[in-house]
Amino acid sequence: MKLTLIKPTIGRMEHSLYIDEGRMEPLMLGILAALTPDDVEVIMYDDRMEKIPFDEPTDLVAITVETYTARRAYEIADEYRSRGVKVVMGGIHASLLPEEVIQHADSLFTGDAETLWHELINDARHHRLKVRYDAPVGTGQITHCGLSVIPRRDIFRGKDYLPISLMQFSRGCRFACQFCAVSQYFGRKHYLRKIDDVVREIEQQERKFIFFVDDNIASDQPALIELCHALTPLKVNWISQASLDVTKNHQLMSLMQKSGCWGNVMGFESINPLSLKDARKSPNMRNFSHYIDEIAVLRDHGMQTWAAFTLGYDHDTLESIEQTVEFALKNRFAFAAYNILMPYPNTPLYTQLQQQGRLLYDQKWWLHPEYRFNQAAFNPKLMTAEQLTEACHQVRSQFNSLPSIIRRFSDIRMTLQSLSRMASFWRYTLLFRKEVHKKHQMRFGLK
Ligand code: SF4
Repeated sequence: MKLTLIKPTIGRMEHSLYIDEGRMEPLMLGILAALTPDDVEVIMYDDRMEKIPFDEPTDLVAITVETYTARRAYEIADEYRSRGVKVVMGGIHASLLPEEVIQHADSLFTGDAETLWHELINDARHHRLKVRYDAPVGTGQITHCGLSVIPRRDIFRGKDYLPISLMQFSRGCRFACQFCAVSQYFGRKHYLRKIDDVVREIEQQERKFIFFVDDNIASDQPALIELCHALTPLKVNWISQASLDVTKNHQLMSLMQKSGCWGNVMGFESINPLSLKDARKSPNMRNFSHYIDEIAVLRDHGMQTWAAFTLGYDHDTLESIEQTVEFALKNRFAFAAYNILMPYPNTPLYTQLQQQGRLLYDQKWWLHPEYRFNQAAFNPKLMTAEQLTEACHQVRSQFNSLPSIIRRFSDIRMTLQSLSRMASFWRYTLLFRKEVHKKHQMRFGLK
């Protein structure tokens, strides 16, 4: 039996194809490959930079679907199915919107793969694939039949991914931010992997630079303390995503630094406490100091921060968006992302905007032929959708301008901590700068 795994791209630029130069290894496909029995041949195609050979013989195609890639994922599925090849679709979008995804697949997989993937492969082998496989989330976390699953990284070879190993220590998050699809998917629960398994996985691969792609690695602080103790002797450097409340725990911050943490993607979301309240961003709201205390702690511990902001809340105005970029520049964050508030399907934000009649693009922006990457998909309160789209693009351009990059780089205390940190600052800053402009207004899907 032969299984073909597919990671779809988002889409294409108006007049040319889009090659994602910042692409990272699709970890979830490495996990699927590892869960597949050894006698099944596994091949992976990454639509972000290579052509999918639709006519190459295969017995089953598995496509991972996110909201941003749904349109392209359906195009790929339709191509294979028109050739009589069976297609299974899974991923977070498949769990959030099963009734949509099932229209393009022979079989739908919801939940996490670990507990039911083996059964699906066995059914496919015997030509009795079920219409649905509904696996639990989290409970089988990276274990299969009681054994720890180490992703098969051999399927990533030769695909020129960024030189950073993606891993997971946990899945989910205990918070309930209003816009967050992760919180919806995991039902506010946080699932941990055994630390021994994480250590074993680190030792079995060559790289010393690791990105823990956990939704919120600081969701369970005692667990993170244990992880830091285990990482320290391994002499790795790592980054992850963490909620800002971690800065209140000074012991943990010191341990993170000692264990090789260079910094985290952190959801600042807004500098306006009213917007944080609307977003139910509780990790940012305790003793709100306008982030003065949090930023001081991050700097004291040598953490380079990727500050993530969300724009388009009901209290946001064009002026407040401008103030948000000034705030990021003043604090010289190593990196910053300015995301338009996106109504992901089945989130509380989506439901609220739907009830208020504020959703654009026939309520399904991810499928609409006129929707473009980085466009507002709803009517904001204090500006138009077009103004929000334009303001967001402007602040992205401003933060990624050369004067801004030089100003951030001249923050010697943060950027010159080591040669490797300096090199990685330049590598990723220039890459992000390029991608911001390349991706803007990209079409969804290739057709
Ligand atoms: S803290 Fe982050 S991962 Fe957790 S619910 Fe909020 S946005 Fe989602």
